[in-house]
Amino acid sequence: MLLSSFRDQMASKSEQNLSCPVCHEIFKDPVLLSCSHSFCRACLQSWWTEKAIKDCPFCKRISSKVIHFYKGNNKKGF
Ligand SMILES: [Zn+2]
Ligand SMILES: [Zn+2]
Repeated sequence: MLLSSFRDQMASKSEQNLSCPVCHEIFKDPVLLSCSHSFCRACLQSWWTEKAIKDCPFCKRISSKVIHFYKGNNKKGF
């Protein structure tokens, strides 16, 4: 039930919002939180390293769930 609403939001948001609210760049390794906000994985991890609680950098809701958009198939040679 939750998953389908995530999908709807992803579908509508993926077109309009492609930049990360933390670094304001195009998502590099985008992940989606359970609050339906998305961030670069690196941004999220650096945000969370200073936190005891894993909250959303944008809306501050506790987000225990992280949904990965891509599973390691999108690496463009470093
Ligand atoms: Zn970012
Ligand atoms: Zn959020």
